[in-house]
Amino acid sequence: MDSTGGKQKFDIIVVGGGSAALETVVAACQHGAKRVLMIEKAPKLESGGNARYSSTGFRFAYSGKEEIKKLVPDMDAVTYDRISVPAYTVQDFIDDMNRVTENLIDQDIARVIAEDSNEAIHWTKKMGIPWKLHMHVVVDNKIHFEPGVIIHPVGGGLGQLKIWRELATTLGVEIRYDSAVTGLIGNAAKVEGVKVTTADGSYDAYADAVILCAGGFQANQEMRARYLDGNTDIMKVRGTRHDTGEVLRAALDLGARSSGHWRGAHQAPLDAGSPRFEVPVGNDGMGSWTKRYSYPLGITVDKFGQRFFDEGEAQFSFTYAKTGAKILEQAGGLAFQIFDRTTSAHIHKHDSHHLETMFEADTLPELAKKIGINADVFVRTVEEFNAAVSDDRPFDPSISDGRHTVGIHPAKTNWANRVETPPYRAYPVTGGIAFTFGGVEVTTEGQVVNISGNPMQGLYAVGDIAGIFYHNYPSCSGQTRNAVFALRTTRHALGRNTAVARAS
Ligand SMILES: Cc1cc2nc3c(=O)[nH]c(=O)nc-3n(C[C@H](O)[C@H](O)[C@H](O)COP(=O)(O)OP(=O)(O)OC[C@H]3O[C@@H](n4cnc5c(N)ncnc54)[C@H](O)[C@@H]3O)c2cc1C
Repeated sequence: MDSTGGKQKFDIIVVGGGSAALETVVAACQHGAKRVLMIEKAPKLESGGNARYSSTGFRFAYSGKEEIKKLVPDMDAVTYDRISVPAYTVQDFIDDMNRVTENLIDQDIARVIAEDSNEAIHWTKKMGIPWKLHMHVVVDNKIHFEPGVIIHPVGGGLGQLKIWRELATTLGVEIRYDSAVTGLIGNAAKVEGVKVTTADGSYDAYADAVILCAGGFQANQEMRARYLDGNTDIMKVRGTRHDTGEVLRAALDLGARSSGHWRGAHQAPLDAGSPRFEVPVGNDGMGSWTKRYSYPLGITVDKFGQRFFDEGEAQFSFTYAKTGAKILEQAGGLAFQIFDRTTSAHIHKHDSHHLETMFEADTLPELAKKIGINADVFVRTVEEFNAAVSDDRPFDPSISDGRHTVGIHPAKTNWANRVETPPYRAYPVTGGIAFTFGGVEVTTEGQVVNISGNPMQGLYAVGDIAGIFYHNYPSCSGQTRNAVFALRTTRHALGRNTAVARAS
């Protein structure tokens, strides 16, 4: 009962205010819900979750450049001719999820994310989200992309959040800001509502279905220390400060079963000078200003001047989410990405060009001095690396080129270029957390599963609060999962079996 004594009853209550929540309320309305309430802990001006700090690139299965042209209709003819877009199949997507999660991802969940990804992107387009081409490299005048990741919304995450919010309002969704869900009403078999706390007090609200979209626990220092490895309690949080895990905890306390990698999280390399929370984004929609994703082209050394991982294991979109954790394991949670003139030329255009810390020198000892590391060790590391580079294959940043090292540890598997042409550059980096992988277990329809293995009636979860990933994640599949499960959960909750959008 609320403070006036009247029971607040809705068809659907969605908890959260990020991209998962907004897509879910819109999908719920499309699937026939009449009374939809969205409860967001953040104040209106800070609302939107992690997407506020992201370009929100979207991974999906596509057939080739003609399909991309449909999604980016204002692409000019010259650009269309220059883009190289081999098909990315459902099986490619499933294989990528299996490889990076070390085959721990639930196979049914992986299958529906990949199979529905194409429907989901076309749904967003139909809903009015405008798309543009994503991060790329240019080689021989051709534009190449990471496999599966070709587009992001115009205006990035902020751009899409604005459109979803306007849609939600037009469709009659009631949005309550500054309202934290602090408990669930029900038991491990059935959930009937939520407990809400505001500055003025607390009240209960009831619904036929409660859909949890309250994100991970990455902004909760105590939970990071409890569940994640290393000095993660003092690490930088790239996204929203509002994802503090209490809704996840409430679901577990009620009897939800946990899933996903509880010691794992998306932790990526960031400029060491990044703010502690909420790294700002640029107007170009390209996400956080301090990300540093060009490391596969150079080498990375710790503060003792030594390499510590295979920088060229795969394209950055398959390794960046675990590379931040490797950096945090090093002394001081600090490392330096090193490039020479040749590799500097290929640093991603969008890689930290707004707020970067960069040191440059004409000799390696000078560079070592500037960044405060032991020059003898650093020079020896570079000399050993240079001597190990095999010239069997040419350097090609547009593909996994197989240009590798021989006889050193750690090896470099691709893009092994000698660090030999001045000026040399060093970028100090640390690891920044984007979101946690531990969450509640869900079915392929987004129903939360209880400790006995049965769906909890009336309770669903969409987004980072559902534990799906292990070890690592293929870049940009968070947004895919949000849209796919926004559609699947609301279809299920409202008893609809029809799709609201199919690829045209
Ligand atoms: C910097 C950065 C870049 C990223 N780039 C990409 C990318 O390009 N592509 C991609 O796919 N993914 C990307 N991600 C990951 C992606 O943003 C997330 O996976 C996705 O935003 C998760 O959506 P969500 O709605 O589940 O959670 P969030 O966006 O985190 O939203 C959670 C919401 O719940 C609210 N909330 C929290 N607690 C409560 C409570 N108690 N009561 C009510 N509301 C509550 C929060 O205020 C917030 O609005 C990036 C993440 C970051 C941080």
